[in-house]
Amino acid sequence: MTASPHPAPGARAVLESSPDALLVVSEDGIIRLVNAATERMFGYARGELVGQDHRMLLAEGFRSGFHRLFFALRKDADAAPGLPPVEAYGVRRDGTEFQGEVACSLLVQDTGDAPMSMAVAVRDTSHRLAADAGLREALSLLSATLESTADGILVVGGDGRIASVNNQFISMWGVPRELLATQDDDAVMGFVLDQLVDPAQFVEKIAALYADPASESHDVLDFHDGRTFERYSRPQKVADRVVGRVWSFRDVTPARIAQDRITQAMADLAEQAAQLKALAFQDPLTGLSNRQLFNDHLEAALRGPCGTAVDVLLLDLDDFKEVNDILGHHAGDQLLIEVGRRLRECVRPNDVVARLGGDEFVVLLVGSLDPGMVAERIVASLKVPLWIDGTMLRPSLSLGLASINEDAVDASELLRRADIAMYAAKAAGKNRYLRFRPEMMKSLVERTELEAGLRLAVDAGQITVYYQPIVSARSGVVVKVEALARWERGGEIVPPAQFIPAAERSGLIVEIGTEVLLKGCTELRPWLAEDPSRALAVNVSGVQLQHGDFAELLLAVARSTGVDPRQLVVEVTESVFFHDDVHVIQQLTALRNTGVRVALDDFGTGFSSLGRLQGLPVDTLKIDQSFTAMIHTGDEKLPILSCMIAMAHGLGLSVTAEGVETAAQAEYLIKLDCDSLQGYLFSRPQAGPGLRSAIARSNDAFAALLGVRVPGPR
Ligand code: C2E
Ligand code: CA
Ligand code: CA
Repeated sequence: MTASPHPAPGARAVLESSPDALLVVSEDGIIRLVNAATERMFGYARGELVGQDHRMLLAEGFRSGFHRLFFALRKDADAAPGLPPVEAYGVRRDGTEFQGEVACSLLVQDTGDAPMSMAVAVRDTSHRLAADAGLREALSLLSATLESTADGILVVGGDGRIASVNNQFISMWGVPRELLATQDDDAVMGFVLDQLVDPAQFVEKIAALYADPASESHDVLDFHDGRTFERYSRPQKVADRVVGRVWSFRDVTPARIAQDRITQAMADLAEQAAQLKALAFQDPLTGLSNRQLFNDHLEAALRGPCGTAVDVLLLDLDDFKEVNDILGHHAGDQLLIEVGRRLRECVRPNDVVARLGGDEFVVLLVGSLDPGMVAERIVASLKVPLWIDGTMLRPSLSLGLASINEDAVDASELLRRADIAMYAAKAAGKNRYLRFRPEMMKSLVERTELEAGLRLAVDAGQITVYYQPIVSARSGVVVKVEALARWERGGEIVPPAQFIPAAERSGLIVEIGTEVLLKGCTELRPWLAEDPSRALAVNVSGVQLQHGDFAELLLAVARSTGVDPRQLVVEVTESVFFHDDVHVIQQLTALRNTGVRVALDDFGTGFSSLGRLQGLPVDTLKIDQSFTAMIHTGDEKLPILSCMIAMAHGLGLSVTAEGVETAAQAEYLIKLDCDSLQGYLFSRPQAGPGLRSAIARSNDAFAALLGVRVPGPR
């Protein structure tokens, strides 16, 4: 009896509700049984299928495998009850085809000798087709992306061999395609390493990553040809399992060059800014701080903790103008630079040293224990002589020291006090330091009042003239008088030392000088007229000579007062000859052409030397009183003095000695062949009305001198 292919009722329910098409096909290929899913899948009614050849359900090309399958199943029947599913194409009743998966197994029979049948399960896999298409699309998208990215990509398999590269990788690294085709990975690696500045680092990184397959990395590679790549590496994973490694390389050379340029530009800018800042706060000549920076530091120091000592040392070079005038601006600059250097050496590195302008410097000491000692050190430091352009200079300075104290002063007041102390130091004889004392305010007020009062004094005719006789050593009589300005101020006589400097600063000296000249000529005309060998000497400041019309003015005054120009002497100091303008020389030369004589006043002070005298429009040398003062007993050897007089004579100049106060000095100078003598020994300067008797006293004094010299009976 043939086993019925019709299942029992319980099994039938399972069969009918199966989502897969289930069929039983007998060994002759005839369909014996189908379920509901078969009807749905193929579009036939059950009756149209049972008893028909199974091949009606298969698409062309898939209809011949049945016997082979049957044979294979029967052969392995014991070992495996089925075969793996196969792909096949089915054909529906309407002729359309679909892809499906067919699984077969032998139908287990109740009795061993029954004819063989095969159970067939068919599953429609059309849905997979859609999924495959999606996968293919995704793959093509991936490869298109890989090829269009600017990154070079290298994939290395789990076995360490190159699995794939994109075109960009090949062109970035310049790997020849033939080399890649050889699949000789070591050769490719060698080719890569040759291009790198640091191949060892490249290899190390790879080793480190293979030791830790799940890790990611990012680093930068530098090439011999100047290029820079960024290197990224991440593991290639399939379902959490690392199966290889993806390397991507990005050429960041342009970005790096741009970045380098930016960095350089920023550095340049920063340097420029620093230079500008330094310039804004630096004195260009000495490199010291400037006024602005000093003020900032001073303000900050005063805002600092209470009780901290703050000292301001204001200083000004003595007679700096002369250095500039006589030796030139270059020498002046050299001196200022040297002073700046010495100042720095006198203070701690953090103390602020600034140049305020001209020859004025300032030092700020914060927390100094002994500012007086620093001030002393500064004054002493300048005593060391220095050589500039072959001339030895011994600069000196006057320094004012002001400190913050209980009456808590602000920055500007502190500076003002230092300034007052500095002026006091100058007034006290220069080349020293003085600490500010409140009494100094008084002299400051006096000074300001003096300057204001001077103009009024000129207008009010308070400038008068005193005369001092000058005795000829040869004839023993007064042949010359020097006109010296005086200021009659409210019944007291102000000496010129107190107002001439102020008059020179304000320019009032021009009017004062003219006044002295006019009064001198007017008052002395009768005395001069008595003897043509008599002369009147007037002091002329450099400021006056810088006015172009001085020579004309002097001659006009001489004419209007009836004084012969040959009876006039102008006394100038050495410094007037070293002003930049040739104007001064021209004027003095013009005056000498009319018979006016020129005397060089205060000779031996300042910075000039006998060597410079040659060729100057000068007739007389007036030896400064400081040289006369060197004569005490008359027995000392003073080669400087004898040398000066001899040299002057050698140059054809006459010599007058100033400040002769004692007979010993007069005798000494006469012995040295000095031509004229001037000083208190003969007469102090006298007002016009007292001049005649002063001259008589001078003549007597000289005669008495001779009396001492000529031994005779007592
Ligand atoms: P100076 O031209 O060297 O004038 C000589 C100064 O020495 C005068 O001082 C005079 O009084 C003083 N003197 C004369 N003999 C002796 C002495 O034996 N011992 C001492 N210790 N001193 C003596 P004075 O009159 O005070 O003048 C001071 C300076 O003021 C002058 O020095 C001159 O440079 C300047 N000066 C005076 N009058 C004028 C003027 O009208 N114009 C200009 N530009 N400067 C003037
Ligand atoms: Ca003089
Ligand atoms: Ca003099």
